[in-house]
Amino acid sequence: MTPTESEKWMLEALHEAKMASLICEVPIGAVIVHDGEIIGRGHNLREHGQDATLHAEVVAIQEACEYLHSWRLEDCQIYVTLEPCIMCCGAIINARIPVIYYGARDPKAGAVRSLYQLLSDDRLNHQVEVHERLLARPAGEMLENFFRDIRKRKKAEKKARRAAAEKN
Ligand SMILES: [Zn+2]
Repeated sequence: MTPTESEKWMLEALHEAKMASLICEVPIGAVIVHDGEIIGRGHNLREHGQDATLHAEVVAIQEACEYLHSWRLEDCQIYVTLEPCIMCCGAIINARIPVIYYGARDPKAGAVRSLYQLLSDDRLNHQVEVHERLLARPAGEMLENFFRDIRKRKKAEKKARRAAAEKN
C-alpha cells in the first residue's frame, strides 16, 4: 500500500525517532514540512546535550526557523511521533505553526489531548489544527521496545553486580 502524503512525512519523523534510539535517547522524532519539503528535522537529544529543552519538536522548530530566517512558521505542518508536552506545545504556538500531525498519545505528559488541550485553547491567540494517531502504532512500539530494552539491561546489570558480590 502506498503511503498517503501525511504518512510519508510521519515516516520521516519515525526515521528521526529511530536515530534517537540508536544513540540511546528516548525515541521521539519530528519533522517540519513547508511547500512539500522538509525544512526542519529533529530527534530527542536531551541526554547527549544534557539540556532539558532538546525535545525533537524544539530541535526541528529551531532548524526550520533558521531555514526560513523567521520565527513564524506560518505555512508549515509539524509531524511528531508522540503527543507533544507542555513545553513543545508552547513552542508550536509561539512559532504559529497551523497544523500538527502526531502519532501516539502520551498519557503522562501529553498536552494536546491527554492532560491539557493547549493547542485548541481559545484563550490563546493561536490555535492549531490537530490530527492525531497517525502511524501511532509504530511510534508506540518503538517507545515500548526502547523502555523494555532498558529494563532488560538494568536487570542484567543488577544480576551481574549480585554475582560479582557473591564471588567476593
Ligand atoms: Zn516536548
